[in-house]
Amino acid sequence: MVLDRINFLKDEINKYNYQYYVEDNPTIDDYTYDKLFAELKHLEEEHPELKTPDSPTQRVGSVSEKFFPYTHKHRLYSLDNTYNYEDLEIWYKKITEEYGDDVELVCELKIDGLAISLTYENGIFTTGVTRGDGVTGENITPNLKTVRAIPLKLFEDVDIEVRGEIYMPKTSFEKLNKESLEKGEKLFANPRNAAAGSIRQLDSTITAKRDLSIWVYASIMEEISNPPKTHYDSLMYLKKLGFKVNPNIKLCKNVYEAIEYCKEWENKRFNLDYATDGVVIKVNSLAIQNDMGFTARAPKWATAFKFPPEEVVTTLEDIEFGIGKTGAVTPVAILTPVLLAGSTVSRASLHNFDEIRRLDIRKGDKVLIKKAAEIIPKVIKVADTENRISKRHYSVPQKCPVCHSPLEMRDGEVNLYCSNPDCPAINKARLEFWVSKDAMDIDSVGPSIIQQLYDKKLVQSPVDFYKLTIADLMTLNLIKEKSAANIYNAIQGSKNRPLKRLITALIIKNVGKETADILANEYGTLENLMNASEADLAAINGIGEKMGKDIYEFFHNEKNIKMLNDLKAQGVEPPAVELPKSSLFKGKTLVITGTLSNMTRDEANELIKKYGGKASSSVSKNTSYLVVGLNPGSKFDKAQKLGVIILTEDEFLEMIKSEEKFPVVPD
Ligand SMILES: [Zn+2]
Repeated sequence: MVLDRINFLKDEINKYNYQYYVEDNPTIDDYTYDKLFAELKHLEEEHPELKTPDSPTQRVGSVSEKFFPYTHKHRLYSLDNTYNYEDLEIWYKKITEEYGDDVELVCELKIDGLAISLTYENGIFTTGVTRGDGVTGENITPNLKTVRAIPLKLFEDVDIEVRGEIYMPKTSFEKLNKESLEKGEKLFANPRNAAAGSIRQLDSTITAKRDLSIWVYASIMEEISNPPKTHYDSLMYLKKLGFKVNPNIKLCKNVYEAIEYCKEWENKRFNLDYATDGVVIKVNSLAIQNDMGFTARAPKWATAFKFPPEEVVTTLEDIEFGIGKTGAVTPVAILTPVLLAGSTVSRASLHNFDEIRRLDIRKGDKVLIKKAAEIIPKVIKVADTENRISKRHYSVPQKCPVCHSPLEMRDGEVNLYCSNPDCPAINKARLEFWVSKDAMDIDSVGPSIIQQLYDKKLVQSPVDFYKLTIADLMTLNLIKEKSAANIYNAIQGSKNRPLKRLITALIIKNVGKETADILANEYGTLENLMNASEADLAAINGIGEKMGKDIYEFFHNEKNIKMLNDLKAQGVEPPAVELPKSSLFKGKTLVITGTLSNMTRDEANELIKKYGGKASSSVSKNTSYLVVGLNPGSKFDKAQKLGVIILTEDEFLEMIKSEEKFPVVPD
């Protein structure tokens, strides 16, 4: 009896939620809704054993100590992107060469929000996770439950994982900022930051108060009878399950229709109540998607067209000088705040002193600034000099703005550098880089914490982070026991980050995250890398003599060796990287064409890499082998013309099998 009533109430409320938050079409008034909700809550309080996770009363939120990392079952990839239509045509041409002329595409608006993944078991929402780095995210299930547009229960009892973008409507963002301004709180720069800040609240009752919504755009279905065969149909199916799917999707016959769509939305997007920064274009056929597979970071069957950056004119109020982790002094334009591409901008990059000279920019000038997504805006040119205050050119500073040491030039570089190796500004920038996303990724340690830790002499070098105690952290301004414990745990939890991150964090001259990745895969452990000879380093593809020397010198500098040993003593030790299983394909480049029968193209490419080879997508004179599946494309003809060795799928597998019998130890 009670159970029936509870089930009835749950279904009714879920239905009204769906009508209100997904279909944007409410059918009952708030009063009636609130009455149903109160009755359900009352019954559940009397019969707690009947409370279930899909009950609408479970959307209220709770307080967590911290977010737990969650390894995605299926990786969330990034998208390759472009700003021009020609690239889209080239991308499409490659596809049609392989799969025939009539490859359909689906266009979707690229939502400028926060990517997340939602898992449903038997139609019940169980787990919600942030994208994170695509491999590991954070479990934020309680927060996502408060987002009314996310169904707690689907219309069918399926097992499914869906991906979507959490966003805050522009109108809600403006309202939130207005309220924050009145309360004297910090303002969010744009709707995206507001959405991110709201969804990552440890107290999800705060999330519940923020007006967040979602667009769902992809799914992974397992064991479903009669699964959709196209991306478009899968979106329609998601809609049928009760998900909020953006209505502005379009099925296009070819790339020209897709380009029309991009052109149309370049202007129309400003009328939407959510921010979009481009169009995502995907191959419609799931069979072709599956066959095309992925590169290391992105699907080959999808690409993003980014809308051109916006430009705006504002006034230059001043020029300040900042110091980066390399010690380079960079000029920053201080601007009269202005709205640009949805954010308020008050600073812009001026790159270096040559740029100031080239622009002949002076206080009071009207300047044109431009912003590409995610990138700090930059000054393009002086638009008007009528209100110019300064009569003289900006002069290049002679001293470091922070430690007042003389600045020096370096061979072949336009930048000026602080000459003091112990400049506090450089040290702080290096510490900030150590905790940054591409390096050790300790996101609860922000610039203001580093500033305090440095000034209190608690942290002078990265090693000191790992020596911090909770008591040390509690001496910081506004840090109470709970957040001190969070910070402490975040630092301790970063000790076993992958080797490539540690190498990036070390700030070796000219070694960015890509090069760090190459080094990690080449050497597997820090010890091996430290013991590498200069000649060995220089011989690595993508390193070369100059960088090889820099890397060698870094690892043979006494101060650096001491730091690395100290880090190790503190327990900072990345797990060893799995090196290629054998050198069967070492130094060889392999290309695959046609449909393979024993594995997907991705799996084949993984095998190639595992056996030390390089997997490429196009045939050239440097191709060692072409592996041919069913219905090979134009690559087959090209390979024949170039005299590339051609292998059938069976021959390819045979090579690997015989290798398994007589494994070759990598040299
Ligand atoms: Zn300095």
